[in-house]
Amino acid sequence: MFKNSFSIGSIGGIVIRIDYSWFIIFVLFFFLLATSVFPANHPDWPGYLTYATALLTTILFFASVLAHELAHSFMAKASGGEVKDITLFLFGGAAQLTEEPNKPGKEFWMALVGPLTSVGIGLAFLLLLRPAFRDLEPLAALALWLGRVNIVLAVFNLIPGFPLDGGRVLRAAVWKFTGDFVRSTRIASNVGKAVAYGFIFLGIMQVLGGNLGGVWIAFIGWFLNNAAAVSYRQVAIEDALKGQRVGSLVETDCPAISGEISLDEFVHDHLLQSARRCFPVIDGGEMRGLMTIHALKQHPKEEWGSIRVGEAMIPREKLFTASPDDDLAEVFKRLSRENVNQLVILDGDRFAGMLSRERLFSFLRTRSELGI
Ligand SMILES: [Zn+2]
Repeated sequence: MFKNSFSIGSIGGIVIRIDYSWFIIFVLFFFLLATSVFPANHPDWPGYLTYATALLTTILFFASVLAHELAHSFMAKASGGEVKDITLFLFGGAAQLTEEPNKPGKEFWMALVGPLTSVGIGLAFLLLLRPAFRDLEPLAALALWLGRVNIVLAVFNLIPGFPLDGGRVLRAAVWKFTGDFVRSTRIASNVGKAVAYGFIFLGIMQVLGGNLGGVWIAFIGWFLNNAAAVSYRQVAIEDALKGQRVGSLVETDCPAISGEISLDEFVHDHLLQSARRCFPVIDGGEMRGLMTIHALKQHPKEEWGSIRVGEAMIPREKLFTASPDDDLAEVFKRLSRENVNQLVILDGDRFAGMLSRERLFSFLRTRSELGI
């Protein structure tokens, strides 16, 4: 989901990542605080004080967002799930779970613990506003803003549209009531889409009324709408694939090539002679690797005559493989998670064929056209 991100460390075994888009929101919050929020209430502050307070407040705000996501993640881990990482990005934070929770009760608490944490942090900041502390103006201003904003964050996240936390609570409730995970996801994500359109509408009305801040609200609506659609599709696809075996979709008609031929021979005798884009490299009955267009393009054309396929291919140990007996839903999850387009199917040690993402999608398309 976040391709342009880097890791900044880990907390309790959970990797924390920053997406480049996060810098935009960081700078935006910093300037909002430094040029508008604090100067409005404290015009007497010297410039350096305003900026220093704004910087510290911004950092603590994102620490609060991180704490909210960590709460979700630790709850997920405590109930047996796995959390890949937490990424801070343009619209806040996102914890990536490797799996959806398997019981409504688990999902309910996993979702609720985030807003509860934000409320807790918000109240803690507001409690700092005691008389002794009030005299330290910058700290009091910081605590007041962080206190309010964390509570706003909690309330916003409790809006009952999937994939917001409130939408997850809604899904857990419908799921408990109907016992149908896919159906409850559909309902919660439809409510999510309605909420998203509400945001877009509100944003546009604000812009028409002369408030440019509405662009941001509409933008959040657009993001929520996408997220609702994508989350439902993911669940629906996994449901359609559940119980199906990889073997039923494997492409077995894969012409093998030898690792001993040159890239030139590969291009003219194989690649340009077929519609295929990847070729298993098999020598002496043994699967050695996979030759793809991408691997070919790592070498300049002039060198194709002198490089052998065996040197340019993706070696077997670097390939993503599956067995014909693997569950398609699991394989689909892996394809999305690792962001690969094809899997090599090995039956024990024997090459059994290929399975591409395209093929998986055309299988799903047929089913959805027939409405099954
Ligand atoms: Zn949350």
